[in-house]
Amino acid sequence: MDVFKIPTLSAKPIPITTKEAFESFTKKQKPWIQLISDAMSFSWRYYAQCPHCDNAIIIIGFNPTHTQTPHGKHYMVRSVNGVGFLDRSAYEACPYRNQANKKLSKEDKYSTEHHLPSKALNILIEHFDRAIYLLEKELQIKFSTSCLKRMLEDFRASQGWLYKGVSEQNIPWIFAYFTLSKSLYKQRILNKTLKSNLLALEPKLQFDKHETLLVTDGLFFKTSFSFFDHQRSVNDHHLIESITFKVSDKNNRDLYIKKIEFDPLHFANLINMDEEKAKEFRNMKLVEMARAVFR
Ligand SMILES: [Zn+2]
Repeated sequence: MDVFKIPTLSAKPIPITTKEAFESFTKKQKPWIQLISDAMSFSWRYYAQCPHCDNAIIIIGFNPTHTQTPHGKHYMVRSVNGVGFLDRSAYEACPYRNQANKKLSKEDKYSTEHHLPSKALNILIEHFDRAIYLLEKELQIKFSTSCLKRMLEDFRASQGWLYKGVSEQNIPWIFAYFTLSKSLYKQRILNKTLKSNLLALEPKLQFDKHETLLVTDGLFFKTSFSFFDHQRSVNDHHLIESITFKVSDKNNRDLYIKKIEFDPLHFANLINMDEEKAKEFRNMKLVEMARAVFR
């Protein structure tokens, strides 16, 4: 992996760059940096936590004898005092694991007692406005409040936060993935391609000045949107995750398809903004709504 986290030092995942950067971040403190010595030699070990599964990782490539690009690797040999977890079920599901490109099914779920899902759910609730901001920005669609409420209810009903593909970093997109198909009516369609595709199929569709798709008397044109196909792959230690957004008509004809690549660092930056500075950008009504659905 090309990122690590150390929750006690920063809530954000940190890119793995150089030994010097890691040493300055951890202030060369134990347990993150440890001296391993035996009769013959001694060397330094660099530990951190996997941003996805919270297990301990060891960073390879910082020692002069290493020729590889610095990257993190799960350390599942034994538990390292003070460093992450030693949790095999989370490791098995971790996208950074070798051969982990196998697709998870929506039924692959953690037990309700597992420590990872509740953290992710809590982040979704307390930062629901940020999650929606990222989805809306990507899609150029503004969802109505009642639509978002039903999406939250879908997520609760399907217990999406227990999905083994969930993490604190990808929860906005996993939220969308676990919602059911919703009508496009009453949503604001700022996406020009989508709007022109809709009008090409049904020229009588009407939009108000905010681009809200209006329900028109006598017009029986059904159109809905949904999210599907969560994909994960690791290229050159870098994790890429995506879901696909699709708008279709009543005959299941595709009117618009967009692959949404997750942007976990953007989400981490948003949720770790200084609260005072972030105030003007926040939509606490959405947060209240999320809290109420999960109360
Ligand atoms: Zn992991």
